[in-house]
Amino acid sequence: MIQVSNLEFDYGSSDFQLKIPELSIGRGEKVAIVGPSGLGKSTLLMLLSGIISPKRGSIRIGEVQLEHLSDASRRRFRTSKIGLVFQEFELIEYLSVRENIVLPYLMNRSLRKMTEVQASAESLAEMTGLTDKLSRRPKQLSQGERQRVAICRAMITKPEYLLVDEPTGNLDPRSASEVIDLLLGQAITNETT
Ligand code: ADP
Ligand code: MG
Repeated sequence: MIQVSNLEFDYGSSDFQLKIPELSIGRGEKVAIVGPSGLGKSTLLMLLSGIISPKRGSIRIGEVQLEHLSDASRRRFRTSKIGLVFQEFELIEYLSVRENIVLPYLMNRSLRKMTEVQASAESLAEMTGLTDKLSRRPKQLSQGERQRVAICRAMITKPEYLLVDEPTGNLDPRSASEVIDLLLGQAITNETT
């Protein structure tokens, strides 16, 4: 469950101000935040995942009040509970698709055994049609495939919360509906397990 109250945020360096008096997202709920470019959608996702902190107000993710955590605990919380797909995907160009998918574990080996991780990477790749692309570099993929790699990377830690920025922004209508089906399917799977 995500609960935001009296949230205020600005970057300091621009006129932009984000104010959210109240936002509540229940367990298993799937929410889309829509609005024009510049509205603050990406900013909100970064706030919810604890990458940036609000100037005022509180963000509660499950049992955790983000503003009560130190930077280090917030980072640990994010890597274990939150799967975030950035608008620009943020794939590492010099790593293979396989390495990009397991990246959260390359950065934090204590999370799980590497053999299990490789097996989950392969099953996610299978589910998203990337099995024959695992050895490629991101540059050798289509935009839709790159996004699927980013989604696999966000899902590999089996996060309780999956935050996806512009899930269909760069995709043709058919790939867009496939991605939406994939994400909603995943939300349901996680809800029932
Ligand atoms: P959206 O995702 O809805 O298009 P963003 O959250 O990316 O909107 O941006 C909201 C506003 O904040 C925009 O006006 C943007 O220019 C500004 N902004 C985004 N990132 C920064 C930053 N790092 N520093 C200053 N201003 C920023
Ligand atoms: Mg955005």
